[in-house]
Formats: sequence, C-alpha cells, structure tokens
Amino acid sequence: AKHKGKSSYAHFAPEMTEVSHERLQMESRMRRALELNEFELNFQPIVHTDSGNLCSVEALLRWNNPTMGTVMPDRFIPLAEETGLIIPIGEWVLEEACKTAVSWKEITGRDVGISVNVSPRQFRDPGFTDIVMRALSNSGLAANQLELEITERLILDNSIETAEILRQLDRAGIRLSVDDFGTGYSALSYLKSYPFDTLKIDKSFVQDVMKEPEDASLVRAIINMAHSLGLRVIAEGVEEEAQTHFLKQEGCDFSQGYFYSRPLPARDFESWLKTNQR
Ligand code: C2E
Ligand code: CA
Ligand code: CA
Ligand code: CA
Repeated sequence: AKHKGKSSYAHFAPEMTEVSHERLQMESRMRRALELNEFELNFQPIVHTDSGNLCSVEALLRWNNPTMGTVMPDRFIPLAEETGLIIPIGEWVLEEACKTAVSWKEITGRDVGISVNVSPRQFRDPGFTDIVMRALSNSGLAANQLELEITERLILDNSIETAEILRQLDRAGIRLSVDDFGTGYSALSYLKSYPFDTLKIDKSFVQDVMKEPEDASLVRAIINMAHSLGLRVIAEGVEEEAQTHFLKQEGCDFSQGYFYSRPLPARDFESWLKTNQR
C-alpha cells in the first residue's frame, strides 16, 4: 500500500484486489439502491430527560439489500461519501424524514421535530441549502421542526463556506446541532461563533458515566459549558436507568438511547408513538 497512483495497480497484493472488488460491487449496488427503493429510515426518540416525554426524533438510515441483508450506515456511508452518492442518498433522507415527521402530527396531535444527519460531502455540495429548503416545502414541515446534525469534525475545518452555510440555514429557522461532540479534539471557540442550538454528547462519554469518574466529570463539564453558552444538550447512548438519574441530576436537557427505545422502522415507531405520547 506504499505505492500510490495508477501505475502501482499491479503491485496490489491479492487481498487488496479482493477488497477493491468488494468495494466496486458495493458501489454498483449502491448506485441502484435508490431506484430499487432499498433505503429505509429508522426512527429513535429523543426525550426530555426530566419527564421521559418525547421531544423529537432522529432519523437513522438503513440499507436493505437482497444479497447483503440490512446494511448499517457505518458500513456504507463512508463509501457513499467517497463516491459522492451521499448527495442523492442524503436528499432522499431529507425528503423522507420531513414527510414522515409531518405524518406523525395526525397521531400525536402536535408537532414532532425530526433530526437528520448530514455528512461533510453532502454539506459542502453547492446545492445543499436548496435541497433542504425543497424538502421543507415539499413536505410542509415547518423549518423549526427540522434539526440538522452536523459532526464536530466537519465544523473543525473552519472554512468561510461552512460558516456561511450554517448562517443561511440558521436564518431560515432550521435548527442546528453539533453531533459527536467531544470526539473532534476541538478548539471550543467555534461554539460561540456558529449558530448552533444543540450539542450532542457522544455516546462514548455517556456509556461509562457510572463506571468512570473521569467520564462523569467530562459529561458534567460539557453540560455546564453548553448551558452557559445558551446551548441545549442531548446525551446519546443512554442504555441504563442509572445513567438517566445521573443526567437528570446534572441538568442534561434531552436523552436518547436504547433505554428509551432502539431505532425503529416507521410502522413500529408509529406504534411506539401511540403508546408513549403523553
Ligand atoms: P450517530 O449520528 O452518532 O447516531 C447514533 C448511533 O448510535 C446510531 O447508530 C444509533 O442507532 C446508535 N445508538 C442509539 N442509541 C444507542 C444506545 O443506547 N447504545 C448504543 N451503543 N448505540 C446507540 P447507527 O444507526 O448505526 O448510525 C451510525 C452512524 O451513521 C450515525 O451516528 C451517523 O453518523 C451515521 N448516519 C446514520 N444515518 C445517516 C444518514 O441518514 N445520513 C448520514 N450522512 N449519516 C447517517
Ligand atoms: Ca446523529
Ligand atoms: Ca439557530
Ligand atoms: Ca455520535
């Protein structure tokens, strides 16, 4: 793998060829997946930590392929990013997420916000804000019911373009959250110059709050810092009741995780809504 460029192609070890064959196969399957309707959104509730009541919902992408089965996003999003396929796929996610959120209003009798993950390549596409605005107008979802989750790593590129797109989305009334907070080794200064509403504490910190005093201290510090900057905080990866007590005590606004519900297919999530809306 030391050689780079076209001429080194012949030097690849057999196992490398196998890997690239697999990639090519996956890529060609991914190219057809949109037409064949193989993508699906799952939905996971985000609740008020204090009451456990529903606040909003995160849309999480799944790929149901006849030969590969259900493929999780960590296995295909990187390739979708590299190939640019994330742009049409991400557009589908936005359209589908906004439409589905609107349909919940009939069940709950109120607005339910939806959070959508945005990957760097998608965010930097010049058509991105238009795609977002179109998803809103096509579905009739109010802008303040849509939250875009942007990973901390993307924000750290610190470019003028990033700042400008964030400001455009903010002016349109769309909510913005920093996803995977704490994983980017960041200078925290971006938090005061960008129009974020919410900070999502990465599950790697939340997972061990009951076991590792350092993680508990970190989570406490993140919550306090976020609040002093006027941001609200979501803890992700909440799996046990003990964690909910800790997060309540520390004043964490919202929680998300298997303790409340796993991400569910649309129909199962509807049933969850019917029994859990308070
Ligand atoms: P993420 O945005 O950090 O999403 C949270 C991940 O944690 C999800 O994995 C979710 O299923 C999982 N999770 C939720 N609660 C718990 C819990 O209590 N414990 C544990 N261990 N895990 C929990 P998932 O669905 O496999 O998604 C993985 C990543 O793929 C997401 O991480 C996100 O970065 C990306 N992704 C998902 N959907 C989309 C999408 O539509 N577009 C883009 N660009 N990326 C997406
Ligand atoms: Ca997310
Ligand atoms: Ca805002
Ligand atoms: Ca995360």
